[in-house]
Amino acid sequence: MAVTLGIDVGGTAIKWVARDTATGEVAGRGGVPTPGDRDTIVEALVALARAADPDRVGLAVPGHVDRATGVVRFLPNLPGRWSGFPLGDTVTGATGRPTRLLNDARAFCLAELRLGAARGLTDVLFLTLGTGVGGGVVTGGRLLVGADDRLGEIGHTTYDRAGPACGCGSRGCLEMYASGPAIAAAAGGGRTPAEVAGAAAGGEPAAAGAIARAGRAIGESIASVAALLPSTALVVGGGVAGALPALRPHVEAALAAREPFIGPVRVLAAELGDEAGATGAALAAEEGSGR
Ligand SMILES: [Zn+2]
Repeated sequence: MAVTLGIDVGGTAIKWVARDTATGEVAGRGGVPTPGDRDTIVEALVALARAADPDRVGLAVPGHVDRATGVVRFLPNLPGRWSGFPLGDTVTGATGRPTRLLNDARAFCLAELRLGAARGLTDVLFLTLGTGVGGGVVTGGRLLVGADDRLGEIGHTTYDRAGPACGCGSRGCLEMYASGPAIAAAAGGGRTPAEVAGAAAGGEPAAAGAIARAGRAIGESIASVAALLPSTALVVGGGVAGALPALRPHVEAALAAREPFIGPVRVLAAELGDEAGATGAALAAEEGSGR
């Protein structure tokens, strides 16, 4: 049986899924905590790849990579220095298996496009709401990638130029309004985004205000993106996606306000949960996108 191993390297956990390449059946899955430095992270990835004995490996990482060379460009959310590190060649050299890298949000998009909420759709925007806000674009049925796998950073489009400083170096990015930490902080702090969403549903003003602000920011930002890239649906996933029922009316109201120009955009909940990144990494390796 030919096996593809997909690994999602996150800031807190490394999740993996082994797929039967021919049938797509899941042959195994698991996760380990993310180690605290680069070399130990690489050792963990190599150990996972050796244990699963796959034919090929896909690695999703929370940053930008050169898909053609497997070199990391920008990876601020993992401990250690990664810029310029040849992660693809390092894992390939240690395991003897071809290894493909891609951005974790783009991996999420690919998984939801092939197997999840965007199945059968051709023009779709994606958002992952978590500690940060990732995104992606499918147009004409193809996931757009771009140089250094940067295409799709909807979370770093400017929502309010006068807003707070963002980790990307700009100000007032969508991420500053729609990420989990942003929602929690806007509601006064001390609660998870899920708790804020629950309190908003119960009518608590601070929580409702934070949810409305995040939903409006998402809807208005997506409307701007959809003006450039006509899309029939928005797929929302990530660790904060549990707040989508609370966010949804605000997102939909902002999209409806732009509908005469951008057309209808349906808001869909992602279907693959926290395995989407690893699944998308495996799909990327199977499909040979990248190197
Ligand atoms: Zn930003």
